[in-house]
Amino acid sequence: MIAGQWIDGRAQHGSGDTMQILNPATGTVIDEVRLATPEDVAAAVAAAKEAFVGWSTATPGERSTVLHDLAARMSARAEEYAQAESAQAGKPIRLTREFDVPGSIDNAEFFAGAARHLQGSAAAEWDGTHTSTVRREAIGVVGSIAPWNYPLQMAMWKMLPAVAAGNTIVLKPSEMTPITSLMLAEDATAAGMPDGVFNVITGTGPVAGEALIGHPDVRMVSFTGSTRVGHRVAEVAMAGLKRIHLELGGKAPFVVFEDADLEAAIQGAVAASLINTGQDCTAATRAYVHRSLYDQFVDGVATVMDGIVLGDTADEGTDIGPLISPTQQAKVAAMVERAVAGGAKVACGGFVPEGDGAFYRPTLVTDATQDSEIVQEEIFGPVLVALPFDDDDEALRLANDTPYGLAASAWTTDVVRAHRATREIQAGCVWINDHIPIVSEMPHGGFKQSGFGKDMSSYSFEEYTQIKHVSFDITGESHKPWHRTIFTGNND
Ligand code: NAD
Repeated sequence: MIAGQWIDGRAQHGSGDTMQILNPATGTVIDEVRLATPEDVAAAVAAAKEAFVGWSTATPGERSTVLHDLAARMSARAEEYAQAESAQAGKPIRLTREFDVPGSIDNAEFFAGAARHLQGSAAAEWDGTHTSTVRREAIGVVGSIAPWNYPLQMAMWKMLPAVAAGNTIVLKPSEMTPITSLMLAEDATAAGMPDGVFNVITGTGPVAGEALIGHPDVRMVSFTGSTRVGHRVAEVAMAGLKRIHLELGGKAPFVVFEDADLEAAIQGAVAASLINTGQDCTAATRAYVHRSLYDQFVDGVATVMDGIVLGDTADEGTDIGPLISPTQQAKVAAMVERAVAGGAKVACGGFVPEGDGAFYRPTLVTDATQDSEIVQEEIFGPVLVALPFDDDDEALRLANDTPYGLAASAWTTDVVRAHRATREIQAGCVWINDHIPIVSEMPHGGFKQSGFGKDMSSYSFEEYTQIKHVSFDITGESHKPWHRTIFTGNND
């Protein structure tokens, strides 16, 4: 049994029930863990609160050194991370080796550098009688909650900007996928991160999650997960007037204009809809395709999807893995069935293949209506819906016509059209002629029901720091001229 909690610099067992951690590709048990109770959460928060005093006053250089060391340790164990992430989340090993793990290490290196670039504005005498400066200060203990789809990357996105800015953190990974977050905590401690700065609690959302975000000593709540749970998290956190950062669900449009490079759009649509078996908040889910290209697009995407290899996630030859659980598999299958019952058609896939594991064949749905569930709701599976449009106004209107606004792409060779799409699409990221690539230097975060606040990049420091105005009188006068607006008795 693994010790599922990392509290105050050491591995511990939780005091709650025992839960199995399963490999979704095989349904076999990888390990067992004892879940955190509210008492375990309180111990982690207490450790983080105590550690805040020292960590928030450590120099940026000291914090940076620890993060550089962490990146080096992760690089040394990269294959171990890749294997663990693949097993617990059902990801093909090619994805964890080439995307999850290197991306996470790059993130650590970015924040190791960024820790030394936290700045306020320059000092100045704005009114001639005072010098003002701005201090950017850490907030305190951050309570972070992460989902199961990119366990390691989400742990990094939560932990790195928080600790680089001098906060301490209690992270609750998804109880289904805690293993790489625990490895990360172990490596952070070995890298010299003081005890209590980074704590991991493995527990369920309603028990450990709510105990964390409702704890009075947690000053900020940072959540990545579904919009539904995000509403609940906001409610609990708001009751304590905590700062909130929400990275929620998505329903990304993929707009193919009439002048697009069709082959690029077909290749891009398959990659962007199937990444992580479609369990990606930015995955392409709604392809709006100009009617002149529509039939060719549908044929092209269906052909490539039909060739996608599902199977053993440990095999470099496997393209996509299973869904995270039989529950998620059933949810995806039911959504496609309801779409078909409502008049939609399936151009490829649309079924659970034979064999073990929570697999679902890559699926292209056509003939759905804009207001149908499959177009409006997050599916979180390997399913793309294609819909035709007739002009640019219609395409952009349809692209914006869901409650979400996380990511989008537009495919065109016309620079004016591309600029219009980037202005008018309501999403935290708009790609032109690509869809998915992210970099540590650029922000990630949503509009509308996809939440608010940014992960990665220097913009994430806006979430994890608070601004203090410091004002020095520079006149040295006892009787200041502005006092006469309050009283006039002794102004001479
Ligand atoms: P989820 O909302 O079910 O769970 C996310 C986390 O919240 C888990 O750790 C869970 O234990 C916890 N949780 C559940 N109920 C809770 C409660 N009442 N109080 C506190 N915590 C609670 O999401 P999921 O199924 O794990 O992940 C998939 C979702 O995450 C999708 O909607 C996806 O779009 C979203 N996501 C968003 C981003 C982004 O950057 N915007 C990134 C990745 C995933």
